[in-house]
Amino acid sequence: MFINGEWIDAKHGETRDIINPFNQDVIANVAEGTKEDVIEAIQVARQTFDEGDWRKSTGLERGKLVVRIAELIERDKEELAELETLDTGKTLTESLQDMEDIAEVFRFYGGLADKDGGEIIESPIPNSNSKVVHEPVGVCGQITPWNYPLLQASWKLAPAIATGNTLIIKPSAITPLTTIKVTELIEEAGVPAGVVNLVLGSGSKLGQELAENYDVDLVSFTGGMEAGRKVMTAATGNFKKVSLELGGKNPNVVFSDADFDTAVDQALNAVFFHAGQVCSAGARLIVEDSIHDTFVEELIRRTKNIKLGNGFHSSTQSGPLISQEHLDNVVNYVQIGKDEGAHLAIGGARPQGEEVKDGFFFEPTIFTNCDSSMRIVQEETFGPILTVEKFHSEPEAIQLANDSVYGLAGAVWSEDISKAERVSNQLRMGTVWINDFHTYFAQAPWGGYKASGIGRELGKQGIEEYTEVKHIYRNTKPEPLGWFG
Ligand code: NAD
Repeated sequence: MFINGEWIDAKHGETRDIINPFNQDVIANVAEGTKEDVIEAIQVARQTFDEGDWRKSTGLERGKLVVRIAELIERDKEELAELETLDTGKTLTESLQDMEDIAEVFRFYGGLADKDGGEIIESPIPNSNSKVVHEPVGVCGQITPWNYPLLQASWKLAPAIATGNTLIIKPSAITPLTTIKVTELIEEAGVPAGVVNLVLGSGSKLGQELAENYDVDLVSFTGGMEAGRKVMTAATGNFKKVSLELGGKNPNVVFSDADFDTAVDQALNAVFFHAGQVCSAGARLIVEDSIHDTFVEELIRRTKNIKLGNGFHSSTQSGPLISQEHLDNVVNYVQIGKDEGAHLAIGGARPQGEEVKDGFFFEPTIFTNCDSSMRIVQEETFGPILTVEKFHSEPEAIQLANDSVYGLAGAVWSEDISKAERVSNQLRMGTVWINDFHTYFAQAPWGGYKASGIGRELGKQGIEEYTEVKHIYRNTKPEPLGWFG
């Protein structure tokens, strides 16, 4: 762990084995922190914020540091990508792309660090002036998941550093390796001791403390609904600011006038990319009835060709699930789907073969004959499971797409652009793609409507989350009120 500029073991000396999900090898042994460790990190971050020079640093100085971190990530991107693939099983191609995107996130927020000069507003009161400034929130607790370990961390680290906060980051206990490595790079870039602190260990202990502790001013969480609810509840103690990036059950709406070949191809990528372990996975295909049968036939034909295997092999298209526990969840959802009467069209089992025998692999799976009353359609399986529903009219497509407690992302496929825009305007989601899926970039905000979360990351909205807004009013001609004789 990294606290106050020092690399340290857990106070109680405990450690945890980190497992490669491709073959279950132990690839690292890292500190397993306790509540005492995280409390120490919080105190350091508090003191650094309250008493140190960091708060007095200029946006230009912080921006240079954040851009320097981007450069170091670019320098070490191969090593970082290899660590991510070892730790998560995702393909090396994907991990390399993640590292490029992560460097861009740091570069983007480094560039924004000195752009906010505040705002002069017109005061309605004579002989006065008013300005509005943004200030750092203070001590930030940052909690990240296992599916995109460093990508999710970068969305939190870069804006928090750029705006002059201090922070404690806690990656998922099972995928800490790239967050450890990037903390080394943050140290190398010259970020002062105590500004960025890294703790490692379980969410229920360390994460919960970050959400509860009164010395933390903001908690930013990315993960599932259940833990998100605990974080939000714990945060009420001192009413700290809360930012939540939660799950999704994202609709992919295909009209009959879509480019058939591209829509099939992208529907597969939407759901099976990273074995479905993506918050924005297009897990609910909603397809116009007139093309339903041919669309499904083609999906099944192409699904048979998806190559599962070692993320380090260039021919591999998808890696394993993250853990035995998660594999058990996915297996359970297939049973739920069958019990609910959905038709298992392909997949539904663990794959056979030498290359995949030791990993937590699961076959790409498609259920047809689905309807929105089913749990398999409503709940986030976070695995390679696609459900297919049919629609007959445009209003029905919109109604089905919005029929979810979630509202993270969704897509509309049609060559009729006015129709596609009309439909996308009515979808209640933080991101809507027209004739595309999964595209995101640092410049545009990311986040969810409804139970998919609170607040936004990325874009200029993502940096605003890390600031408090202050109104400074000046009376330029102070005079006694004359009320008191
Ligand atoms: P998770 O909720 O189990 O864990 C996320 C993080 O929270 C981990 O670091 C974990 O240790 C910690 N945690 C667990 N219990 C906690 C508690 N009581 N208090 C504080 N912290 C706690 O999620 P996961 O299984 O790691 O990740 C998968 C989930 O993340 C999915 O639901 C996915 O949709 C979501 N996700 C969302 C986005 C997004 O941008 N909206 C991005 C990636 C992942």
